[in-house]
Order: sequence, then structure tokens, then C-alpha cells
Amino acid sequence: MSTLRSWGDDSNQEVTCIACGETLNREDAREYDKHGDRWSRKGKEFEYLCKPCDRECCHQNRDGLEEALVTAEAGRTDRKTFLRRFCELTAENSNPN
Ligand SMILES: [Zn+2]
Repeated sequence: MSTLRSWGDDSNQEVTCIACGETLNREDAREYDKHGDRWSRKGKEFEYLCKPCDRECCHQNRDGLEEALVTAEAGRTDRKTFLRRFCELTAENSNPN
């Protein structure tokens, strides 16, 4: 089955995984909205995770995830700092010891 694609289709757009920095095709990436509201797209910049990172980051207990994002100052600090903080926080959350 073939699908006609019009010019300007962005399916081949490349995106960057926010966790590891890997560049991948957008259609291979998992869309991640730190606001948790996928339906309000206006004016938003979506984040993307590659599948390995999606598995690592998102398939653990989500309790405290939003809190961790806020604590890590998602959207209010530069990406590198945010990711470092976020990884530290999620590591703490997933490791009770
Ligand atoms: Zn990744």
C-alpha cells in the first residue's frame, strides 16, 4: 500500500532526542510533551525521544515526573542543564536507595 505525499510533508524531518542528543527521523521518534497536553499544539515546541530513551525515561513510575520536570526547570533553563538535572532527578526517583 502506497501513500501519496505532497510536497512540504515534514515526515522526513529530523529531530533530536532530548535525552541523548541523537538525530533521528521524526517518524521514528516518540513525541514527548512535557506539558502532558498533546492536544493543545498551538505555539508549542514538542520534544522528542528516541525509542531507547523513551523506554528508559518514560516507562518507569511516572509518579513525580511532572514534579521532577518543574524542579528541573523545564523550559526555563538551557537544554543541557535541564537534561542533567532531569536525569539526576529521575535517577533518584527510580533508585530509592
Ligand atoms: Zn535518545
